[in-house]
This record gives sequence, C-alpha cells and structure tokens, in this order.
Amino acid sequence: MGRLEPVEDRLWKHLKWEGECLVWQSPTNSDGYGTIGMGPGRGTEKVHRLYWILYRGPILNGLYVLHRCPRHLKTCVIHTYLGTHADNMRDASVDGTFARRSKGTRIPFDWKGRKRHGRNGKLIR
Ligand SMILES: [Zn+2]
Repeated sequence: MGRLEPVEDRLWKHLKWEGECLVWQSPTNSDGYGTIGMGPGRGTEKVHRLYWILYRGPILNGLYVLHRCPRHLKTCVIHTYLGTHADNMRDASVDGTFARRSKGTRIPFDWKGRKRHGRNGKLIR
C-alpha cells in the first residue's frame, strides 16, 4: 500500500461547489452522510464533522454538527451548525425537510430548493 494522502487533501478531492453549497461527491453511508477514512486503524469520520473540525473549531462535548442546508440534506459541509441531539430530532421531524433552523426560523425553501408555502398559502420569506 502506498502512503495515504493527508485527510484534508482527500477531503477536497471529493468536495464540489454547487451554487452556495459545498457538496460531498462520493458515496455516502447508510444514513446518507459522506464519510472519509481517517487513516490506518483510525476508522472513518463524517465529512461534515471533519470539515467543522478542520475549519471551524472543536465540536464541544455532547453537541452535534447539524445540517440547515435546504438543498443537500446531509452532504453539504458548510450549511451546518452546532446543536444538541434534541435539535436534530426536531429538525428531522418537520415534514422530513429540515424546515426549521435551530431557533425555529422557517427556511423559505424545501429540500429540493423550491419555494415553501405556509399554511396560509403565502410564500414564506
Ligand atoms: Zn448547503
């Protein structure tokens, strides 16, 4: 086996800008998350967590890197925020579309990037 390239280099080979999103281009795990091998014997890490650790800072104890991306549910590495497990469950339960941010603000797009309509039929801004 040849030497493995640094994980940061390998990460960027699989990331591509799609509009405002930076999206993982390679196969995902059974949960839909992109993962990357951390090196011999070091297992794998989810790419959005790795991106956070590399470029944003430590993931504090007990917090999760959660997605608030309206277009790429689990494979966009930049539209993320730190939250609790409870935040994650609440996000995932709203129509399955991540329709809320952590503080309950409605995102004006659904997961396919279409404009969302509120209950009153008006477009959400
Ligand atoms: Zn995104």
